[in-house]
Amino acid sequence: MTDAHAIPGTGALDATIAMPYTLTAGPAAGQFLAELAARRIVGSRCAGCARVMVPAQDFCGRCGGAAGEDLVVVAPTGVLTAITHAGQDTLVFVRLDGAGADLLHRLVGATGEEAIGTRVEAVWADEPAGGMLDLAGFRAAEAPEEPAAIAPLTGGAERIVQLDESMELHYRHAYGPYYGRLFDELGARRRIMGVRCPSCQAVLVPPRPRCDVCHVKTATWVDVQDTGTLKAFSVIHLAFVGQRREPPYIYAEIVLDGASTKLIHMLSGVDIDTAPQTLRPGARVRAVWNDDADPTGTLQDILHFELLPGS
Ligand SMILES: [Zn+2]
Ligand SMILES: [Zn+2]
Repeated sequence: MTDAHAIPGTGALDATIAMPYTLTAGPAAGQFLAELAARRIVGSRCAGCARVMVPAQDFCGRCGGAAGEDLVVVAPTGVLTAITHAGQDTLVFVRLDGAGADLLHRLVGATGEEAIGTRVEAVWADEPAGGMLDLAGFRAAEAPEEPAAIAPLTGGAERIVQLDESMELHYRHAYGPYYGRLFDELGARRRIMGVRCPSCQAVLVPPRPRCDVCHVKTATWVDVQDTGTLKAFSVIHLAFVGQRREPPYIYAEIVLDGASTKLIHMLSGVDIDTAPQTLRPGARVRAVWNDDADPTGTLQDILHFELLPGS
């Protein structure tokens, strides 16, 4: 998770999960991507079956033959072979003139009258950015007077090796009554609440509708303290997506006084280098509340935990 914030008064959280990654294009597709900036659509011809594929591919998907050596420039015109609507976009397969495989792209300025067989032409981005959208899409076009020719690629641009991409998922998470009350009390009164199981008497923090051990409905809301006992910890040295603080830091499992379950938070004020030798389960800790910002009604209202004097 890279970002999450409570929406005041709604009992919900707006959050985004993001996964950045690099895409390695490969030789032929990397050349295809690079040539789009020069408004050239590059395919490759299979050495086995002579089919021309767009985008250019290193191997033929039909016969398995090598295809990365014979790069060709195809016409920026073709016909639609399939259409689908996805949200605001109209996605299409385009069979470019002379090609033997379809290119997946989108229609720009779709009128709703496009159909399979409609002739289309490329629409180019005003400012090339070095990626697939340098070819902005396709739009309906008149039929050309002469059939388009396929020409060998000469004077190719430097191919694109890697693309930085990020997959992002935006969602809204409704707390429900149990987490909702926990967060409301945290934000409004700095009060940490759990629920007691009527069968095993465990106090569950965060509160939840059923005891995970007995599977019976929980019953009574109870206050727990903002002091507790360290049960386990890890020193985090690696950076990863979604961290709220720069490594290194200590990730701690804490049982708050009055609670039976572990809460995960950060432990600060401990020397990171010697922590593996000096810090021990059983150490007493307390919450350090965030006094410098308005309450958010989340566990981030607790900045971190620190050792109690003498621990
Ligand atoms: Zn082939
Ligand atoms: Zn129970």
